[in-house]
Amino acid sequence: MFDDLRPIDAVGQRTSPLYIAGPCSAESREQMLATARGVAACGVDWLRAGVWKPRTKPGGFEGMGDVALEWLAEAKAVTGLRTMTEIATPRHLEAALRSGVDGVWIGARTTTNPFAVQQIADALQGIDIPVLVKNPVNPDVNLWIGSIERIYNAGIRRLAAIHRGFGSYEPNIYRNPPQWSVAFELRRQIPSIPIICDPSHIGGRADLVAPLAQQALDMGFDGLMIESHCSPEYALSDSAQQLTPDALRDLIGSIRLRRTPDAPDAMRDFRMQIDAIDNRLIELLAERMSIAREIGRYKSQHGMPIVHRDRFNEILEAASARAVATRMSSKFICRIITDIHEESVRQQWEVSDKKQRSM
Ligand code: PEP
Ligand code: MN
Repeated sequence: MFDDLRPIDAVGQRTSPLYIAGPCSAESREQMLATARGVAACGVDWLRAGVWKPRTKPGGFEGMGDVALEWLAEAKAVTGLRTMTEIATPRHLEAALRSGVDGVWIGARTTTNPFAVQQIADALQGIDIPVLVKNPVNPDVNLWIGSIERIYNAGIRRLAAIHRGFGSYEPNIYRNPPQWSVAFELRRQIPSIPIICDPSHIGGRADLVAPLAQQALDMGFDGLMIESHCSPEYALSDSAQQLTPDALRDLIGSIRLRRTPDAPDAMRDFRMQIDAIDNRLIELLAERMSIAREIGRYKSQHGMPIVHRDRFNEILEAASARAVATRMSSKFICRIITDIHEESVRQQWEVSDKKQRSM
């Protein structure tokens, strides 16, 4: 599966990132045309605009609906840009296609729902149009891949994925913190799919968009989807994160592409070193776990509890200090140590009497 994907762009293999830009929502004919002219002058590849907006609570701005498709069509005629919009139902798809939209994306809230994605997939049967699938709201790579598979099974071959970050309850500088490892796992499982980053919905703030965009391209993303509005301060949705077309031009102009002709060989060496280190890490963990099992047997024979809070806190404190001394974040190291400790506890439980008795 996925070996026969085609570029969403239909212009062959790209050497530069794919740029998709446009307003969060098409709000009026004037706003749409002014924004489209502005982003076209930045040299982007596609014009985006939301027509139906999935809002968290009722009463928010839910998009202008079908009439906005006419503005999008006019913007396409005026600028020559290809257009794309978000669809969440078969009816949206039908209306978008009728109006001459060139591509569609499935939003994060929709990707989360297999029933909705399957209905869209059924409606896509026999249609050859680029479809971009945003990650689901929660960091579940299988749900993301499952949605992509449903669309693929409907016969769509011009497919791409979009990383737009994941919802978070914890306070965070980002509106939807990215989890790059989830995107990398998607790439590992579907190497042929282009992955585009949406730094606007990740950042949630205009000043965070450019650094995120650069970071994503440095990490090998294939393109960017960026929200741009002719007057962001008056935008009816996502006002804080939209860039003016001027700011978009600055962003695109400031992007540094890291690919150099001799990169592949150098990269292969680095990857081999990384693979070797990963193998060592796994071996070390295995060694640690075998000691944990011995401890587990000992504690079990002596009636000692498996978890010692104080001991764990000591380990965490020491690790956190080491992390800072070795230029890593203590949060990162504490998270790893906590996971390792959890697995140790599980291994101790595996060999304990309690487990033997409970079986
Ligand atoms: C959007 O692109 O405007 C949008 C609603 O995005 P998401 O589905 O990522 O929230
Ligand atoms: Mn938006």
